[in-house]
Amino acid sequence: MKQGMLIVVSGPSGTGKGTVCTELLKETPELAYSISATTRQPREGEVDGKNYYFLTKEEFERRIGEGDFLEYANVYGNYYGTPLGKIQERRAKGEDILLEIDTQGALNVMKRCPDGLFIFLLPPSIHELESRIRGRGSETEESLARRLGNAKAEIEIGRKYKYVVVNDTVDQAVKRIKSILMAEHCRVDLNQEMFEVLEDEKK
Ligand code: ADP
Ligand code: 5GP
Repeated sequence: MKQGMLIVVSGPSGTGKGTVCTELLKETPELAYSISATTRQPREGEVDGKNYYFLTKEEFERRIGEGDFLEYANVYGNYYGTPLGKIQERRAKGEDILLEIDTQGALNVMKRCPDGLFIFLLPPSIHELESRIRGRGSETEESLARRLGNAKAEIEIGRKYKYVVVNDTVDQAVKRIKSILMAEHCRVDLNQEMFEVLEDEKK
């Protein structure tokens, strides 16, 4: 059976990854979401096992030791990691799986899974990025400044990805990602069996 695609969406904090991926998942019910593990505290409304697996630092480090993560990173003082087991299971069943992770994590996935589909989400401008982070109301001035400072270096990392999508409006960004997924599903190298079926018919 054909393996499912490993789709990685990342970009600077505040670009709108969470918002865009949530909408993408709503519109694409066949797409599975990889629930990450983290040591950060749950935010209001977040549910363990749905938004994240919330772990203690000790538990997270034990799982690093056991090789449970495809990748992990320390993002703004907390661990975040992608559990490996579910991804292997889903892909083996031919299901596509979506990872929404930071740029350090994405670089590590590029090394381990070069067949992944790497999509970089860009803000329309740094000014807009700042107002989105402010609008979310989740950061202190210090943490906002840190995120904006990092954003410039993170945007450079975007050059290593396969696709770049500007998140001007959520609708447009989701449309672009859906078009990328559709095009990837039509790749000749991933669809050899379509030719074989027709060749068998000729025999
Ligand atoms: P990230 O997951 O990249 O850190 P979020 O999804 O939390 O970013 O989005 C940051 C803020 O920007 C949120 O308040 C969200 O509602 C807002 N936002 C996301 N996408 C857009 C958009 N296209 N236009 C305007 N605001 C947006
Ligand atoms: P938040 O705390 O706002 O949910 O996420 C903070 C950052 O961590 C975001 O950039 C998000 O994409 C990233 N992140 C979430 N899960 C993972 C993960 O499993 N691995 C990595 N490397 N980053 C993650």
